[in-house]
Amino acid sequence: MRWRIDRAEARSILSPVTGFLREAGFTHSLTPARNCTFGCSYCYVPTMRVQAGLKPEDWRHWGEGTTFKSNAAELLRRALGRGPGQRIYCSPLTDPYQPAEEEGRAMPAILEAVAERAPAVFVVQTRGPLILRDVELLQKAARGTRLRVSFSVTTDREEVRRIFEPHCAPLAQRWETIRALRAAGIAVTATLAPLLPCDPERLMRRALEETEGAVVADPLHVRAVKQRGATTREAAAGICAHYGWMEWLDPEHQGAVLGRMAEVAREAGREFGHGPAGFGLLGRDERGGNFPARRGVL
Ligand code: SF4
Repeated sequence: MRWRIDRAEARSILSPVTGFLREAGFTHSLTPARNCTFGCSYCYVPTMRVQAGLKPEDWRHWGEGTTFKSNAAELLRRALGRGPGQRIYCSPLTDPYQPAEEEGRAMPAILEAVAERAPAVFVVQTRGPLILRDVELLQKAARGTRLRVSFSVTTDREEVRRIFEPHCAPLAQRWETIRALRAAGIAVTATLAPLLPCDPERLMRRALEETEGAVVADPLHVRAVKQRGATTREAAAGICAHYGWMEWLDPEHQGAVLGRMAEVAREAGREFGHGPAGFGLLGRDERGGNFPARRGVL
């Protein structure tokens, strides 16, 4: 599949965070491109409409192409080091290793900038095996900053993955990527989000086997819980209705699933979190929480 790839200069690259990410303890977000060529059926980003620097054509044509911020690394060099304790989440609006990144190559220069002017925390949120291309740069950046890859795995059922996120890598390849990153000495958290129809205990056990430390999860966002702002796209709700999976949009079922996962983690003596507190675990050092949010750590 071919995507439209454009480049445009951005006015800024680090955005002060509010809401979920602020509650999770981050100070800034970094989004290397506008629009994400993974185009997941549930992606909440296009439901934000024109907020967060997206243009109307982005949310109307979600997944069809992307616009890379051509001056991202230059802006980042200037923004890093302005004020202490920058805790950066990359990225809440697109996957930094989306398919178009293979040609766009925004991340190598961004990681070089992070290596030169280390922030306190740099979290790379992705589900893209393409991240392995940049292992040496991740290692270099991790020497000066607390760098962690938060790698998304959404289910343990490959047929479910294909229905909801057909342009994402198969699950087996995602677990292989986690293993390869860890073998290269990169800190990795399995982020089970959004939780698609799955066997919760089996998915949790796999995450515990494949990683060290905390595991993070989050259910599909629903209006019954979060009345405003970003939410699950209608395309995913349509899939749930078609396949008889509506309980995965039901807050009661979602809470029960999180509880079952928490039980598996507890038995294994591992930490498990969801919501802002769960994402807050991504920026911690080995000695314990430096991020403020605790609510949702089970
Ligand atoms: S990878 Fe993330 S940002 Fe990209 S379409 Fe999927 S959910 Fe949205």
